[in-house]
Amino acid sequence: MTIERRRITPLPDRLISQIAAGEVIERPASVLKEILENAIDANARAIEIRLEGGGIRRIMVSDDGHGIEADELALAITRHATSKIRSLNELESAATMGFRGEALASIASVAKLRLVSRTENSPHAWQLDASQNPTEPQAASGSHGTTIDIRQLFGEVPARRKFLRTENTEYAHCLKALERIALAHPHIAFRLFHNQTPQRHWPLSDTAGRCEAILGREFIDQSLAVDVHHDQIALQGLIARPAFARARNDKQFLYVNGRFVHDRSIAHAIRQAYADVLHGDRQPAYVLFLTVNPSTLDVNVHPAKHEVRFRDGGAVYAFVLNALQKTLAHAAGEVAGHENLPQPTTTPPLPQPASTTNTSLPPTAAAGRQQQHFQFQRHEQGSRNWRALYEPPAAPANRALHDAATAAAPTFSDSQASPAPSSLAANQLESADELPLGLAIGQAHGVYIIAQNRHGLVIVDMHAAHERIVYERLKAAINAEQLPQQELLVPVVFAATEADVALVEEHQTTLAALGLQLQPVGPASLAVRAVPTLLADGDIEALARDVLADLAAAGQSNRLEQQRNELLATMACHSSVRANRRLSLDEMNALLRDMEQTERADQCNHGRPTWVQWTHKQLDKLFWRGE
Ligand code: ADP
Ligand code: MG
Repeated sequence: MTIERRRITPLPDRLISQIAAGEVIERPASVLKEILENAIDANARAIEIRLEGGGIRRIMVSDDGHGIEADELALAITRHATSKIRSLNELESAATMGFRGEALASIASVAKLRLVSRTENSPHAWQLDASQNPTEPQAASGSHGTTIDIRQLFGEVPARRKFLRTENTEYAHCLKALERIALAHPHIAFRLFHNQTPQRHWPLSDTAGRCEAILGREFIDQSLAVDVHHDQIALQGLIARPAFARARNDKQFLYVNGRFVHDRSIAHAIRQAYADVLHGDRQPAYVLFLTVNPSTLDVNVHPAKHEVRFRDGGAVYAFVLNALQKTLAHAAGEVAGHENLPQPTTTPPLPQPASTTNTSLPPTAAAGRQQQHFQFQRHEQGSRNWRALYEPPAAPANRALHDAATAAAPTFSDSQASPAPSSLAANQLESADELPLGLAIGQAHGVYIIAQNRHGLVIVDMHAAHERIVYERLKAAINAEQLPQQELLVPVVFAATEADVALVEEHQTTLAALGLQLQPVGPASLAVRAVPTLLADGDIEALARDVLADLAAAGQSNRLEQQRNELLATMACHSSVRANRRLSLDEMNALLRDMEQTERADQCNHGRPTWVQWTHKQLDKLFWRGE
């Protein structure tokens, strides 16, 4: 088949518009986004959205903003006409959402568009119908502000229309676009109708209130306030505790200078901050507002402005990572898992302007936070095996706490069952007051440690807690480059696939850095010759297999740091106290003290809480005391 050669001819203007519009206007949701941004730029305080047929049939948006003068209506729908910037210089510091002057023109080229607007000084509204030729404004009725009525999107552009999905899908995209904008503008009220039915009503609020309206009460209850400033950059908002992690990434909202963006680098920094406390395939939930000096930012990268470019991306990455790591670490020791309690007594920390992180934590949190100073002070030395973790700290920074703990704890031998003593002596209780996690009373079901502190009862999942402690120790030891290794007298040899053998050969350095000496001993078998001392008592073959599985999964990832921590978490799993092991009170108290001194001890490596607090008030409630 031959293709006939045709003469080069300029495209008709209208066709150029239609092609260009495709970049920005893909579907009803992209129209809605542009129209909402215009209303925000016009200082609207209330916006009403009426969609029909998923927005394909009709999108009508009314705002109470400053409106458009009658003689500017035609310009509003003219390409590259804008009231927002005058020069390239202004582009740099543009504070408005729009600036290209293209959106209305693009929409008008692919749909029927009608504008009705009235400014403050005008005795009545004016309307302009872009589909009528010639386009002269006509007097109309209407209150202050602007209404944009868009019908039959891509009605005359079948090539584009066929990319639209069902009405339900398009509606869902519109809702998402609206949520993204509404989260960043809590001081604007929104109402949404679909096919004449009311769908959403978000009254004026603040960030926390709007987050609650859109993301739900549970998100608020389970989130931590972020408010970190530094010179020219600030990060504010809410991040969910790891325990609130979800299988889907549908609650991730990142804004840069008020604009919702997809930024892979920042998204990575956020994930990285959670890497220690989140199980691999779980997704963190967050609403984060990053503010940078506009002159260090290029928002003109993508026609829909969904992407931005930072002048110093590396510094932004480091700032976000650091701010969130701090916020998550500060939460250690805070009352965790309170959603399971009959009567939650904690008030969630809400964003407060210009303060430091987490100013409104409950009292236990303050105590827990003091413990942060002691993190990583003790490193594993020599060839102590994992049981040594239960010994009281050799030289704890916090002497008084240590004395109280050891003095108060009666000694039981390891093998002996540890029935709960019926009560603690009064002086012991006093010292328990000083201990954030209190003193152990006993062990329940071979899984939980019950302890008593000033606020009431503490219940600890000992397996999860121990796993977290071992993980933090492995990490600290590796960071300090003093991870004690234990050579195995008899190497552990096991059958492996060729792929496993290849992995081992490829990742020798990574494995060595983790204290694992793993070598091929034939085409289909591997030998473990040394492991970190902390893990020497566990099931070594299982440990090696899990590490290999992780390496295979993370194979393409090149961020060694992240990979390393994931591997350490896998390894820590194998070291941990198995359920049903009976602990003496000494051992339990040693574990509690270790938890207090371990960063992020309130989350296990899979994001589950490691302990919960039952307050006096909650206990009294259960027994109707004082009512
Ligand atoms: P841009 O937002 O990039 O300037 P648009 O095509 O979206 O381009 O809008 C063109 C112009 O129309 C805007 O600069 C603004 O002056 C005016 N305009 C559009 N929508 C509104 C509105 N809801 N209220 C007031 N003015 C508006
Ligand atoms: Mg615009």
